[in-house]
Amino acid sequence: MQGNNCRNLASSLLVLAFFLIACDACWAQSSSTNPIRIFVDATHAPQKILHAELEIPADPGRLTLYYPKWMPADHSPDGPIANLAGLKFSANGKTIPWRRDLEDMYAVHLNVPPGSTSVTLNLDFLLSAPGPTIDFAASGSANLLILMWNEVLLYPKGRPANEILFTPSLRLPEGWKFSTSLPIAKQTANMIQFAPVPLDLLIDSPVQSGLFTRVIRLREGANPAHEIDIASDDAWALDIPPHLISAYERLVSEASALFQTHHYRDYHFLLTLSDNVLPLGQEHHESSDDRVAERTLTDANSRLLEAELFPHEFTHSWNGQFRRPDGLATSDFQQPMKGELLWVYEGLTDYIGTVLTARSGLWTPEETCERLASIASTLEHRAGRAWRSLQDTADSAQVLYFAPPEWASYRRGTDFYIESVLLWLDVDVTIRRLTRKARSMNDFCRIFYGGPDGMPVIKTFGFDDVVSTLNGIAPYDWRSFLRERLDSTEMRAPLGGISGGGWQLAYTDAPNPFLAANEQLSGAGDFTSSLGLVVRSDGTLQDVISGMPADQAGLCPYMKIVTINDRNFSVEQLRRAVSLAKIGSSSITLVTSNTGTVETHAINYHDGLRFPHLEKISGAPDYLGEILKPLATEMAQPN
Ligand SMILES: [Zn+2]
Repeated sequence: MQGNNCRNLASSLLVLAFFLIACDACWAQSSSTNPIRIFVDATHAPQKILHAELEIPADPGRLTLYYPKWMPADHSPDGPIANLAGLKFSANGKTIPWRRDLEDMYAVHLNVPPGSTSVTLNLDFLLSAPGPTIDFAASGSANLLILMWNEVLLYPKGRPANEILFTPSLRLPEGWKFSTSLPIAKQTANMIQFAPVPLDLLIDSPVQSGLFTRVIRLREGANPAHEIDIASDDAWALDIPPHLISAYERLVSEASALFQTHHYRDYHFLLTLSDNVLPLGQEHHESSDDRVAERTLTDANSRLLEAELFPHEFTHSWNGQFRRPDGLATSDFQQPMKGELLWVYEGLTDYIGTVLTARSGLWTPEETCERLASIASTLEHRAGRAWRSLQDTADSAQVLYFAPPEWASYRRGTDFYIESVLLWLDVDVTIRRLTRKARSMNDFCRIFYGGPDGMPVIKTFGFDDVVSTLNGIAPYDWRSFLRERLDSTEMRAPLGGISGGGWQLAYTDAPNPFLAANEQLSGAGDFTSSLGLVVRSDGTLQDVISGMPADQAGLCPYMKIVTINDRNFSVEQLRRAVSLAKIGSSSITLVTSNTGTVETHAINYHDGLRFPHLEKISGAPDYLGEILKPLATEMAQPN
């Protein structure tokens, strides 16, 4: 199916101009086309509650209003409606009764009384704290708030989101500062009036605010402007190392060199450093909502693990926001989305994000190879590959995002992220091989994401568009190439991009820095490629991989290890036991608690600790090394 520009935020702004000029005439015909006024009072955010008041133009008669359900960046029907409270409607000072739809929990119905031209809606949104599952209501603390407009509004049924205009305003707690990509009309003290904006762009533009904030402008004076806006729970966390700022400036340069266009007026990395909000990376056209632990900028392990966050979310401005799969570009927030092309939307973003992380120096080439090795090893130990294709992990994304980590190997999770890194590496290496290094995925990025600079727009695409663009760069049977890899249910991990790139996956007893960093931060033990298990710091098994020694010994997820060779459990003790078993013939004996029943399990394993790494294949062309080289530097210094 050929791409079709089904939605266009720039045209929304033209529509906006029309409405502002012609609104008197509209009013005479139908009040429902006038802008919706929304005022959010966030002064009680530290007490975990947001108040909102909306003035919704409406004609007398039946009115259906929606709470946004399908969120574009989530690919899931996860609008946090359980935290919506205090819903009250009135017109001309009189309360209007309402009733929820019995089939669609995100719809409410009411009757607008005769003589009314609008309905006033008051609502509250209840903020929560981060828990074990994804909770988008966990977006504020005593000292900061990320306001996601979808959480505090309802909108009328019947028109596309890019045709429903809002005039937003916001009051913040005294002394708080804020950052957003929304244009500001007026500001006095802690009260902000934003310029009128269509609903889709409003929901695409969160407002980050807080007591402890810092703004870092990247490549000062460059056009368009890019900045990092930091909010944290405490002032000490704002101390970002200068070398990291330099790397983020190189990230902007590398992205510019790669895409050569941009589809935003300016760009805000909204970085929130807090342990009290949902950890998150959420993409938008003109900003990204990046939330990490408070210590992230000052802790080496956290920095290593989170280095790809900005490159990934920034890439989304081109891939996912500007170019969006047909099935994910719906006309409003109630239409179901189809995730079949998430291996492009998220998967290619993960690949480009990995490459940009290396090119900008946020990872060294060696660290990038270790990251690729950890991905490859994860997929080599995915027992679920035998039943669930990569395509199915994308098709069922809306379910898998909410699956627990237990049984991850057999269930498979949202593997379209990491497996697609290897898929697109394979594509990149194959283009370079076919064209004798003349062309690459760099050309794909320039062509597929090209277009006029500036205003945020959406240009949809289908599978055929991806195939035809690849064929235009290097003629090949790309349809079969992609389908074979997307539909495969072979256990074999897709390592063609690594081997074609001149490298091979190898296991040694030297720690992989990414797995080690994760172990140090979480306290868990990752024995994936040795015993075939992942264990939490308290001894509870998170995953056991089918067919590997731990599975053969009868262990399973949720079981808790109590002792190891007659010593109390610790992750360190298990490491010692694995190392000792390599030089002896005895099994590793575990006493476990299985839902309260004590059991003994003997693991017959003698190959020691094993961790994944990439090794150069002697004599093979190093395409991977070429891919990871900075592009901006090459362009600035032509040879
Ligand atoms: Zn993403």
